[in-house]
Amino acid sequence: MNSPVWHPFTQHGLEPSMKRIVQTDGACLIEEDGSRILDAISSWWVITHGHRHPVIMKAIQAACENYDQIIFAEYTHEPAEDLARGLIEIAPAGLAHVFYSDSGSTCVEVALKMALGFFHNSGTPRRRICVMENGYHGDTIGTMSAGERGVFNQAYEPLLFGVDRLPFPAPGREQETLDAFELFCATGQVAALLIEPLILGAGGMRTYPASVLTELKRIAERHGALMIADEVMTGWGRAGSLFACEQAGVTPDILCTSKGLTGGALPLAATLCTAEIFDAHLSTDRRRTFFHSSSYTANPIACAAAVANLAVWNKEPVRERIGALERMQWERLQRFEDDPRFVNVRQVGTITALDLEVSTGGYLSEVGPRLRAFFRDRKLLIRPLGNVIYLMPPYCVAAAELDRAYDAIDEAAACFAAGRL
Ligand SMILES: *Cc1c(COP(=O)(O)O)cnc(C)c1O
Repeated sequence: MNSPVWHPFTQHGLEPSMKRIVQTDGACLIEEDGSRILDAISSWWVITHGHRHPVIMKAIQAACENYDQIIFAEYTHEPAEDLARGLIEIAPAGLAHVFYSDSGSTCVEVALKMALGFFHNSGTPRRRICVMENGYHGDTIGTMSAGERGVFNQAYEPLLFGVDRLPFPAPGREQETLDAFELFCATGQVAALLIEPLILGAGGMRTYPASVLTELKRIAERHGALMIADEVMTGWGRAGSLFACEQAGVTPDILCTSKGLTGGALPLAATLCTAEIFDAHLSTDRRRTFFHSSSYTANPIACAAAVANLAVWNKEPVRERIGALERMQWERLQRFEDDPRFVNVRQVGTITALDLEVSTGGYLSEVGPRLRAFFRDRKLLIRPLGNVIYLMPPYCVAAAELDRAYDAIDEAAACFAAGRL
């Protein structure tokens, strides 16, 4: 069937036709013929509790009675006010202000501008952004600049700005990461370290210990550099705690959240910052304004969905569900622990990942699309990053559904070994 739609991260010359989804339900997507596909990656990591959580869907319906979009300069509304107060209450202590936008990329762009604005307005301009190797922060020009360079952004290279990159803290090499950061900071030019806490998502589900994050924050503080935590993927329980930074005992100066903010129901993002950063922009001088907005900033319906998500966190046993899912994931992962077909069997919170042993890895590894097709044939939505297979299911996933996913991973590895994948 011909369609004018250009899909994201899709090579239309190679892809089979798109599967049409007519409904979502719990941990599943439902096709036209009624068959259920297990959404084992939470529809690109956004769905936390499950698809169409009733409390969130009801809040969206109720908000539609009163609101559509409202300009967010000069005007405000209850959903945005309630959400901001709720976020400050549950976020790491010390974050005091909330700036709204509409996607993971935009909330990171906002964070970068806040950091540079902070130093500019303080009369001590700093020019450099420090990031971690293999990081991913979005697909806009700014966030691509901060992310790992590769085949995905080669064509756009002329537009990208330079950043300082820390080596990834691989096991036994954590000190090298800290030393590199110390050296960059010693120039006095580092405005901020932008980092995904505990696990780098799109960069291959690479995990590192919380202690590294704690130390990086100490170094940043010693040199007056800010820490921006990109919690777009790790937030809302995905890494086990509400925000991953909690596990390092760290309050970042700026925290970015988006994917699970509305439980995944509607697009919304927030950049939280400390009073110091807000105060550096607070003035009677209009030149010190934070010059940023997007048309759909703080959409009331999306904010109402996020307020409902907060209510779910406060009233339902979400933490218990996450704990149970962590255990279910851990138990099922064990069968691959000493399996020679896999390396780097790992878990952070509700996320598990393992690398299929192949001769040529990397994102463009041919094994990626073949694995995806293999899972697709078995009604499983699993999209490996090259040879990295990972599961990041909604928290409502049932044990039997997880069993099906892990059995399929086992079967896929067997087929691959037999040259039948
Ligand atoms: C997905 C993601 C982003 C980008 O979010 P979008 O909503 O796709 O723009 C940024 N940072 C991290 C860590 C992400 O996982």
